[in-house]
Amino acid sequence: MLTPNEVMNQAIQHRLLREKGVTLSIKRLDLVHPQVSGNKFFKLKYNIEEALSKGHQTLLTFGGAYSNHIAATAFAAQEAGLKAIGIIRGENIQPLNPTLELAQSLGMILHFVSREEYRKKTEEQFQLDLSRKFGDFYLVPEGGTNQLAIKGTQEILTPEDYSFSQIVTAIGTGGTLAGLAATIKKHQSLIGISSLKGTFIHQEIQSLIEFYKIEPKGSLTIFDQYHFGGYAKYKPGLIDFIWMFYQEFGIVLDPIYTGKAAFAMWDLIQNNYFQKGSSILLIHTGGIQGNLGFMERTGINLPILSK
Ligand SMILES: *Cc1c(COP(=O)(O)O)cnc(C)c1O
Repeated sequence: MLTPNEVMNQAIQHRLLREKGVTLSIKRLDLVHPQVSGNKFFKLKYNIEEALSKGHQTLLTFGGAYSNHIAATAFAAQEAGLKAIGIIRGENIQPLNPTLELAQSLGMILHFVSREEYRKKTEEQFQLDLSRKFGDFYLVPEGGTNQLAIKGTQEILTPEDYSFSQIVTAIGTGGTLAGLAATIKKHQSLIGISSLKGTFIHQEIQSLIEFYKIEPKGSLTIFDQYHFGGYAKYKPGLIDFIWMFYQEFGIVLDPIYTGKAAFAMWDLIQNNYFQKGSSILLIHTGGIQGNLGFMERTGINLPILSK
């Protein structure tokens, strides 16, 4: 069973915050579990329980070569005594990158498929072929978002968080945002920062919220202009910001999700988006495991361990 460390909100001090008359705390989900850190802990928790209670022995899931979800699933499965199979988009490049190396060392079986094949991952025939190949498994979708994941992400906010006026989080598939949306209070605004390029995200989140019958009590706003070129894309400004954040606060961000979300929030503070008196909670959704792979892929240095 996945057991969490106590999650804490860290209060942040900075001249900009004083100047703008706002307060900022960071919910350190990056510290929630030694390995399954961040939002993936919450997304996997009830899926693991379900897999065990239904008598499955194997988890199967999908992801890109640097996926936090793949790394987290490999750990969580091992901890629960389940086998894990990762269907990985792209070629099997040796030596494995740090994410896949880690997943494999935890016993995950890596099965590489072409990008073209990977696109069929939600099709029935593709999944039948996987069952024929691997036998029985409990399927966790790419990125981990399903009903049970959203049940888990509804546990991210706790009563002590009702005092915040704004809650900011990164968006990938939106499963985390959906869980937060289900639990915010009437006086709270939830702000999601898309890591992906495109205005499609507004419709996608709308559909997700309708599909899971979530009726947010507070307001929901999504920003789609902080993607830095698209998913897993970056610009020097983002890297500089991640270093600034580390030097000022000792907190490591990743360039895929949390760096973009924190950058967006900081930009919004600078541009007076938040009224004086606002109390902001930034959700640090984790993702730090990916920094090693990012450094290897790009040759760009990043912080890797919070102070
Ligand atoms: C997966 C991930 C996200 C995105 O979560 P969704 O529920 O898919 O929107 C955000 N931050 C980090 C660090 C992640 O690993």
